[in-house]
Amino acid sequence: MMVFATFLILAALTLLVGESRRSALSRKGEDWALDAAGLIIQGIVIPILQTTLIYGLFAMLLPQLKGTLDVHPALAFVLNFIGVDYLYYWNHRLLHSTTFWDTHAVHHTAKQMDLFITSRNTLWSSLLIVYVWVNGLLIFLLKDPRLFILAISLTASLDLWRHTSFTFKPQSRWHGLFALVLITPNEHAWHHSRTKANKNFGANLSIWDRLHGTYFSPTQLPETFGIASDLNLTRKLFFPFTPGKVAN
Ligand SMILES: [Zn+2]
Ligand SMILES: [Zn+2]
Repeated sequence: MMVFATFLILAALTLLVGESRRSALSRKGEDWALDAAGLIIQGIVIPILQTTLIYGLFAMLLPQLKGTLDVHPALAFVLNFIGVDYLYYWNHRLLHSTTFWDTHAVHHTAKQMDLFITSRNTLWSSLLIVYVWVNGLLIFLLKDPRLFILAISLTASLDLWRHTSFTFKPQSRWHGLFALVLITPNEHAWHHSRTKANKNFGANLSIWDRLHGTYFSPTQLPETFGIASDLNLTRKLFFPFTPGKVAN
């Protein structure tokens, strides 16, 4: 519910604010199809998959461990919001390696930042994201997974926000305060830039990039976004490899 409400609020803002509306509506029909498919996969198909197939897989392989992880609900929240977030940091860095880049590059083809590009990706590449599996496993293991699931929703809501431009100006004090803890839309915008894609790999927290020397948060925003791609829609959705490789 929280994620859906966040999506609706940010979608309304995107369509109400002149500049963001112009930018969002300037995308081609093909990009609408790509972005809509991504949102359906990440917002509907993956959660269903996690609660049925992935959960069922663990229930079949490890039936004796169901509900055996008895931790305080606050710790369950931390486990997801901080623990899984750190795993994702390294997962995202791996997706930028030569070996895996093709499976992630489509996310970097968006020419503007807005809510609708949040889940732009090759459809099956969600299966390479660590939290899809780890979250399924931990929901299975936890005795009381409610706050763990709340942290999943918060993470997904922040992901939507991070792709918008609805935030404080990068030179403002408020941005400084937010960025002390979170990866804000300003830092993620640089991750989508042509020059600094190897910076700001984090999702929720900025500490991981700060710790590992990949943090980049200047007082201005990038002027251009997105890498060039000569892949057609079908290849972007299903087979982002040869013959038309996405340019790195
Ligand atoms: Zn990336
Ligand atoms: Zn992104």
